[in-house]
Amino acid sequence: MARKVVYKTYQQHQLSLLPPSLDELIPAGHPVRIVNSVIDQIDISIIEKEYKAGGCSSYHPRMLLKVMVYAYMENMYSSRGMERLLKENINYMWLSGMSKPDHNTINRFRCEKLKDSLETIFHHVVELMIEQGVVSLKQAFVDGTKFEANANRYSFVWGKAITKNKARIAQQLKELWSYTQRIAQEELQEPEPPDFEPTDPAKVKETIEKIDRALRGSSQVDNKVKQKVNYAKRNWPSNLEKYNKQEMLLQGRNSMSKTDADATFMRMKEDHMQNGQLKPGYNVQLSTNDQYILCYSVHQHTNDFNALPEHLDRFQRMHGRLPKEVIADAGYGSEENYNLLENKDIVAYVKYPQFDREINNEIGEFDSSRLHYNKEKDCFYCPMGQAIAKRKQYTEQKTGKQITIYQASNCNGCPMRGVCHSSKENRTIKISHELLRHRKKARELLTSEKGQELRKKRSIDVEPTFGHIKHNKKFKRFNLRGIKKVDIEIGLVAIAQNLKKMAA
Ligand code: SF4
Repeated sequence: MARKVVYKTYQQHQLSLLPPSLDELIPAGHPVRIVNSVIDQIDISIIEKEYKAGGCSSYHPRMLLKVMVYAYMENMYSSRGMERLLKENINYMWLSGMSKPDHNTINRFRCEKLKDSLETIFHHVVELMIEQGVVSLKQAFVDGTKFEANANRYSFVWGKAITKNKARIAQQLKELWSYTQRIAQEELQEPEPPDFEPTDPAKVKETIEKIDRALRGSSQVDNKVKQKVNYAKRNWPSNLEKYNKQEMLLQGRNSMSKTDADATFMRMKEDHMQNGQLKPGYNVQLSTNDQYILCYSVHQHTNDFNALPEHLDRFQRMHGRLPKEVIADAGYGSEENYNLLENKDIVAYVKYPQFDREINNEIGEFDSSRLHYNKEKDCFYCPMGQAIAKRKQYTEQKTGKQITIYQASNCNGCPMRGVCHSSKENRTIKISHELLRHRKKARELLTSEKGQELRKKRSIDVEPTFGHIKHNKKFKRFNLRGIKKVDIEIGLVAIAQNLKKMAA
C-alpha cells in the first residue's frame, strides 16, 4: 500500500490565546541583548543635554542609540534601512519597544545629537569593558588605514593648480598693464603700477576696469588684447574668489574634493583598477588591545607620522589617561614621535623604517647606520678606515631637529667608492644624533623577549581589526560627508565592533 505524505500543521491565520512577547522570541545571549544591556548601563546624560524642553515629545535617545549601535553591528549604515528594519525585524522592534522613528529622525540623531557626545559615549563603553575585565588601556596597538569618502572620485581640487592659476593671472595682468601703458599712456592716467598680487579679487577687478577704459579710448588696440580684456573682466574676479575660498578650505593640504571639502585625495589599498588612482578619503587611526578598539581618530593627513600626536591627544581627552606602552609599525618611527612618546612617559615599541632590514642583516656595511662612531672624537669611520669628520651643525627650521653634517676628507682613488657613495664630492653623512639615540633604544626594546612578542601580537591585533571592519562589516566607504560626521560614523563602527566582539 502506498504511503501517504504527512505535513506539519500549517495554519497561518490561527490566533493565539496569549500572543508571544517579542522578548521571548529573542534567544538569550543574542548580540542584540548585549547592545541593550551595555547601552542601558552607560551614562547618556551628555546626549540628553542636546534636547531642549518644550515642543513635541522626542524619541528617547537611549532607544535611538541602541538602534544605531545595533544597526552598525549588523552592517546597516543607511537611515532608510534602519527605518525599514524597525518595522520588519523583531530585534529592532524589541530594542525600540515598537517605536518607529523615520529616517529623518534617525539621521538627525546621528548627525546632530551625537556630534559632540559620541566621544564620551565611546569612553563610557570602554570604561564598562575595563570594569568587566574585558580590556585594559595599558597597551595600545596603533595603526591607520584610509577609508574612501562619500565624494565624487573626479571632483578634485589641487592646491598646486590654484597657486599656478593665481600666478598666471598675476602675470597676464602685469602684461596687460604694460601693453596699456605703451598703447594708451594718456588714457590710463596712472603713473604708478597697481599691486598685481591676485589676493584681492576687488582690486583685480578695479585694475581690469582701468585697463578696459584706457584701451577703449585708443584706436590701435590689437583685437586679441580686446578679447583677453573681455575674458579677464568676465572670469578673473570670480575665479579668484573661488580660488581664495578653496585655499581656505584646503587649510594647507595639497588636495580636496569639491563634494566633500574635508576629504583629501589619498592612495588607497583598495585599488581595483590597479592604476594607483588617488581617491578622496580620510586617514583613520585606531588604538586596539586584544582587537577591542580603545580609541579612534580621523585625520586629513595622508601619512601616519603626523597623525600620532593628534591620536594620542584624543586618547588622553577621551579616557583621561594615556597607554603605558604603544606598539606601532615603521610608519610612526620618526624623531618627533619618539620624542613625543618619551615626553609622555610611554614606552615606545615603535619600529623605524630600516628596522626589519637591520635585524635581517640586509643593510650593507657602507650604510651610515653601520659605520663606527667615535663619541670622543665626534667622527665616523668608513670601512676603509678613513675618519668622516664633523663639518657643521644646524637646526632644521621646519622640525626643530638638530642635524649634523660629517664629511670624509679624501675619497679620491678609493677602490670602494662605487659601492660607498655616488656623490662627486667626498662622502657626506647627514644625521640627527637624537634620532640615532631613539633608534638604538627602540631596537633594544623591539628585540627583547617582550618586544618580539608584542611585534607578533601587533599583526594579529590592530591589523585584523581593520580587516574585520573593511571585509566582514563591509565598511569601506563613509556614508556621510564632512570630517565631523565621518568621525561619528567611525565612532559608531568602533562601538559596534567592541560589542560584537564581546557578544562573540
Ligand atoms: S669612498 Fe671614501 S668614505 Fe667610502 S670607503 Fe672609500 S674612503 Fe671611505
